[in-house]
Amino acid sequence: MKLQNKIALITGAARGIGAATALKFAQEGATLVACDIHEDILQDTLRHCRDAGVDAIGLAANVTSRASMDTAVQAALAQFGHIDILVNNAGITRDARLEKMTEDQFDAVIDVNLKGVFNAAQAVLPGMLARGSGVILNASSIVGLCGNFGQTNYVAAKAGVIGFTQTWCRELGPKGIRVNAIAPGFIQTPMLDSIPDTVLTRMRDQVPLRRLGQPEEVANLYAFLASDEASYINGAVIEVTGGLRL
Ligand code: NAD
Repeated sequence: MKLQNKIALITGAARGIGAATALKFAQEGATLVACDIHEDILQDTLRHCRDAGVDAIGLAANVTSRASMDTAVQAALAQFGHIDILVNNAGITRDARLEKMTEDQFDAVIDVNLKGVFNAAQAVLPGMLARGSGVILNASSIVGLCGNFGQTNYVAAKAGVIGFTQTWCRELGPKGIRVNAIAPGFIQTPMLDSIPDTVLTRMRDQVPLRRLGQPEEVANLYAFLASDEASYINGAVIEVTGGLRL
């Protein structure tokens, strides 16, 4: 098992890619700290992780609040002593074309998808620095590399996450902490629920594999990057897109 004896904190772990990643990490032997604003559905994630035979706790934590993330990290440290892996997965969309995007839509996405990554990373960092080791994995997106119609806010955040990854790679690499980003394409999760079927079909047709990705296919890469098998992978932005380039 790739992640035996590792302790991982995952944000946005209640559903979608975050839930699949929590389960994959559990199957690879990791102890889980699953965080989300939706504490009710987080219980499903916890049950699946425990069924895989590992210790897992769930914490109601909002990545937009530094205080909330500090509290969650303190609770995790009190329970397990340290955190080896942070997966900055929580994310939202509030799509609109530039001329129609409201300030609220812009701020909400930047707050969760960009500032939330900063908040969580700063909250776990003192412990990782003290131990001289750690792994931080950030959820970017293929659109952070290519742009996308109707996603000024989301694309800015996901491009910003790539900037974080490259900067933290330089700052934290010498201190024993690896930082990488994943850039998924179209993955079948509740995030896509609001997209009309006709648009989904068009999206699927753009993918050389002619299908949407499954959350587990992203989780597999997170598990590899979190493990010691990826010990020389640092500052990378790895696409999980079925070959899509927008
Ligand atoms: P999802 O909507 O299914 O799940 C997101 C999770 O984040 C939810 O459980 C939600 O409750 C949680 N969350 C939202 N706001 C939060 C907050 N403020 N604090 C803590 N948790 C919060 O989405 P998903 O498709 O699983 O996406 C996961 C990540 O992958 C996101 O960062 C997303 O941008 C990224 N991504 C997804 C796709 C895709 O096609 N699904 C593509 C590229 C990137």
